[in-house]
Amino acid sequence: MSKLTSLISARVKAIIFDLDDTLYDCSGTLVLKSKKLTAKIISKAIKCSEAEALKLQLELEGRLGPKADIAREIANLYNLSEEFCKEIANTINTLEIEGAILFPDTMDSINELKRIGYKLFLVTFGNREMQEKKIKVLGLENAFDEIIITEDPQGKEKCFKEILAKYDLEPEQVLCVGDKIKDEIEVGKRLGMSIALMKHGRHYHFYKSEINDGEPYLHITKVSDLLGNDED
Ligand SMILES: [Mg+2]
Repeated sequence: MSKLTSLISARVKAIIFDLDDTLYDCSGTLVLKSKKLTAKIISKAIKCSEAEALKLQLELEGRLGPKADIAREIANLYNLSEEFCKEIANTINTLEIEGAILFPDTMDSINELKRIGYKLFLVTFGNREMQEKKIKVLGLENAFDEIIITEDPQGKEKCFKEILAKYDLEPEQVLCVGDKIKDEIEVGKRLGMSIALMKHGRHYHFYKSEINDGEPYLHITKVSDLLGNDED
């Protein structure tokens, strides 16, 4: 006999999910794909192979973190013009996201959480058009009670507060699920929400050493972890 034991605290009534690297593998698919595309431009600009250009980007990100403007760093290092940065930005903006798919357990888990009775929200940061496209491609348009996109890198706090007010929720009734220790995790913690940290992707791996052992976070590697462990 197996028994499901939910990890979610009994006081939680609503769950706010992040999108990228929480519901699908953004770092391993779209981000890597965009680095391979921009490697073509970099290889021409600094006269190296595309493999070397990819390696350079990964090295710089490993050193400076996932938020660094890698094109700007390379432009500075190699004395490249503003045109170079513009070409990189244009290439990233035309990135095809058609192949993006959810983690295998995401949709079933969301449906199960909804069936149990949780209010479900998606709050994501990024270029609005790009995030809307991702949501459509991933089939998430109707999966949540509300979807909020913010184009402000510091915008999640405002979005979280709007949800609390609009749905008459106390922070402790909300579980915040995300991979970004420096974004939604900090915001959720500051507001007094429960936290589930998704241990996935470049942001998690760059900042994970800053998590104190004493933090009362749930640590998950997939959304279905929230619904419990199979106990034989
Ligand atoms: Mg994320």
